[in-house]
Amino acid sequence: MRTVIRGGWVVGFGGNSHTLIKNGVVVHDNNRIVHVGKDYHGQFDVEIDATGMLVAPGFVDVHVHAGTRAGHRLISDGGRPEYFGTPILDVGVRHAAPRQANPLEIAAKIAEQMEIEAIFTVAELLRNGITTFVEFGASQEMHDAILSQVERLGLRAYLGPGFYCGEWQADIEGHLVRDLNQATGERTFRAALEYISRVDKSCDGRVRGIIVPRSVEACTPELLRRAREKADELNLPMAIHAAYSVIEFHDLMHRYHMTPIEVLASVGMLRPSVNIGHGNFISDNPNLNYSGGRDLALMGKAGVTVSHCAINIVRRARTLDTWERYRNAGVNMALGTDTYPRDMIMNMRTASYLGKVTSRNLRAATSGEMFEAATLGGSRALGRDDIGRLAPGALADIIIVDLARRDVLRYTPIFDPIKALVECGVGDDITMVIVDGVVRVKNGKVQGLDLGALRDQVQQTAEAAWANWSATDTFERKANELSPSSFPVIE
Ligand SMILES: [Zn+2]
Repeated sequence: MRTVIRGGWVVGFGGNSHTLIKNGVVVHDNNRIVHVGKDYHGQFDVEIDATGMLVAPGFVDVHVHAGTRAGHRLISDGGRPEYFGTPILDVGVRHAAPRQANPLEIAAKIAEQMEIEAIFTVAELLRNGITTFVEFGASQEMHDAILSQVERLGLRAYLGPGFYCGEWQADIEGHLVRDLNQATGERTFRAALEYISRVDKSCDGRVRGIIVPRSVEACTPELLRRAREKADELNLPMAIHAAYSVIEFHDLMHRYHMTPIEVLASVGMLRPSVNIGHGNFISDNPNLNYSGGRDLALMGKAGVTVSHCAINIVRRARTLDTWERYRNAGVNMALGTDTYPRDMIMNMRTASYLGKVTSRNLRAATSGEMFEAATLGGSRALGRDDIGRLAPGALADIIIVDLARRDVLRYTPIFDPIKALVECGVGDDITMVIVDGVVRVKNGKVQGLDLGALRDQVQQTAEAAWANWSATDTFERKANELSPSSFPVIE
């Protein structure tokens, strides 16, 4: 079936980066784009009128943690300073003595809850025009739940359970300990590979495998080396949290006299298809006060990918230092929504503004660079030349943003649609999302799903978890101790 989309603006592809075609046309034949240009006079079956709208490639979100993120809602404007802003330590660190389990884990054991979390994740991504996403190391059970929803709602996903030798644990006072166990690493690595071999290329090829050692300090260099060799053998991309925490930086410096990036370099893991989660605490970051830095040069020379999750980390008083320096060094910049909101447009805006402030350069971190990172940056990280762009031969993953909504003044007047989008847009302005040639969001509605009912269900389960938070929190905190209300609450 051949579909013609006639848009106000079309984001085309010029070989290296995007172009902007005024009053352009995009034509796709089933799941492949066959034409992008000014005119189209051939045959077609369906015509979509996108007058006044922006027709663009779907976003590629390279850093997603599945779930409703109820725990993370408790750590905005608060948290434990001694963990230097690392969110996972604030809400996710487990007790060394398994007297009390992580509340998120308890929740995760309830299959029904996991299904809700998976639906919520995939629906939120889809609603926000994210047509391809990378899950960044969830459990196998969560991956199974996600896979069902990817199959049902039609996204493209990179899946592979996270593996590790040992994760941070804490005692009741919060002292962190870590025990790297090679056997645990081998077992979880094997399980991840088995999972990948089972799901890779499923859902009509929309699901692909990815090798995800959860974080550089949770794995031994030996395990990382083996994981990289396996990625070579299977020709799969990799993702790993690295240079993302002050504690991690010092842990590795203490253990190996190497920075997290140098550890990755030592096992051959610096390359475009390795997606470094955050990568903001590198040796060149002046806040680390480290004199032996060469991380940025190593990263840039290798063209490694950084998944920058601007909103998630700025909430914890951190950002990249700086977007401009990373980009100029040769790092492949890509974007992730990480936890919440899963809105790529808001993330582009936040990354752009922070990029300008940190580099003290009003010409840095432009809207165009952000849009490129949210599309082509992601496709490069995954070694793909058929997503993140509108070009003949590419897959038909297309979003339509209504820049001319009669009830919205934010965008008007529009001089440049990408600047208008990055500066003034939100994901809810996306009216249509097409993935693999199939319309999955129409008139702003996710097809086959009642978002209102889902919202009610998620609010209810989150409130139940918050009401019982102290029974499961590592430090026995109540939800309102962890996250004092903005103002006194009158029940
Ligand atoms: Zn992450």
